[in-house]
Amino acid sequence: MNVTDDIELQRERDFLWHPFTQMRTWEQEIPLFIERGEGVRVYDREGRAYYDANSSLWLTVHGHARTEINNAIQEQLGKIAHSTMLGLTHSPAGELAERLINIASKNLDKVFYSDSGSTAVEIAVKMAYQYWRHNGQRRKTFIALAEGYHGDTIGSVSVGGVALFHSIFHDLLFRTEFAPSPSRFSSAERALAPVERILDEYEDDVAAVIVEPLIQAAGGMLVSPPGFLRGLRELCDQRGVLLIVDEVATGFGRTGTMFASEQEGVSPDLMTVAKGLTGGYLPLAATLVSNAVYEAFLGAPSENKTFFHGHSYTGNPLACAAAIASLNIFENDGVLAGLTPKIELVARRLANIGELDVVGSVRQVGLMCGIELVRSRKPLVAYDLGDQIGAKVCQRARTLGLITRPLGDVVVFMPMLVSTLTELDEMLDIIKESICLELNTDG
Ligand SMILES: *Cc1c(COP(=O)(O)O)cnc(C)c1O
Repeated sequence: MNVTDDIELQRERDFLWHPFTQMRTWEQEIPLFIERGEGVRVYDREGRAYYDANSSLWLTVHGHARTEINNAIQEQLGKIAHSTMLGLTHSPAGELAERLINIASKNLDKVFYSDSGSTAVEIAVKMAYQYWRHNGQRRKTFIALAEGYHGDTIGSVSVGGVALFHSIFHDLLFRTEFAPSPSRFSSAERALAPVERILDEYEDDVAAVIVEPLIQAAGGMLVSPPGFLRGLRELCDQRGVLLIVDEVATGFGRTGTMFASEQEGVSPDLMTVAKGLTGGYLPLAATLVSNAVYEAFLGAPSENKTFFHGHSYTGNPLACAAAIASLNIFENDGVLAGLTPKIELVARRLANIGELDVVGSVRQVGLMCGIELVRSRKPLVAYDLGDQIGAKVCQRARTLGLITRPLGDVVVFMPMLVSTLTELDEMLDIIKESICLELNTDG
């Protein structure tokens, strides 16, 4: 079919600009049109099936077209699609808030909704700043980590540490002090030392520390040394600084527990969730905060302690209904308890893939995984950025019936929690084969 006969392709070429995409390159490729999804698979407009091996960019939890979630949305749709949270309320918002507080760590008491991970972080940052103002302090310094990713709005970019995405906007950002990525250190103690130095230097100018718990996802699936998060909590407690834990990628079972911070017994002052919140169905996010934070904003209107922030679709009822249905599935299907054998299978398969001579390292926390491709292991030599090796391997996987998207030379594997052992096995077969075929290696 040539382009002009293909009206869908023609529209795509004429009118669309895609996120995180060099459009010049994109225009030279034939795009894949996804038409529908079912379980762990998506289908293109020609009816071809693909494993959705990155959960539609880290969102889908219980599978596509999941009956329980579809029904919950439809039921809510029969009542009302959207109603504002400014000056009005609705039952799904309250029900979901209660459910979230019940599953979150004990220090978290209130839920503030928004519509994306970026806005959830933006809100956490603004709340942290304003919290200190209401406590009579003008704290302007945020501490974040190199290779951290917290979203694409200007506030979340300010605390973002992925130079490739963020350096161009430097002039527009508020000042943030960055400690090195904890993944570069062999122990929590070593990784914490630079954070401690920044805390010492900026003292009572520090408003908050922001961190992705256990694993820096978009930075390349970089795993923190055990104890780092707990150590960070202790440092923040000692210095009286707020801790923002960004669970946007890690939340809702992705690391093997409902939230990653549970694994180190950490309770944040503010916590952000988004991606998996609705089971990956609809745009909804939330910033959970402690009562201590919440209460700092209480006062007479004239005291000007209101949090003046909100979005048109804050707390959208359809999305809340989807999120409640998703949490019901967690409970009814014992989803978390069923993860252990899946995580173990993935670990075994990754260890095997890690033996390929083009694999520098394999990284895994629960069902969040990265396979780093390298030109040579000894000595360790990376591929050139221009070689687009990660993209080529993922492109090859697509021809074999699997979709994922790389982070540079790191092939991401982030399967849905609902994946069966057989499906996980088949997905990893395809990923291994793609690496071997594309890079001409058989081990
Ligand atoms: C994806 C992500 C965000 C941004 O979420 P969006 O919904 O894409 O705005 C923020 N923090 C982390 C840790 C993420 O992985």
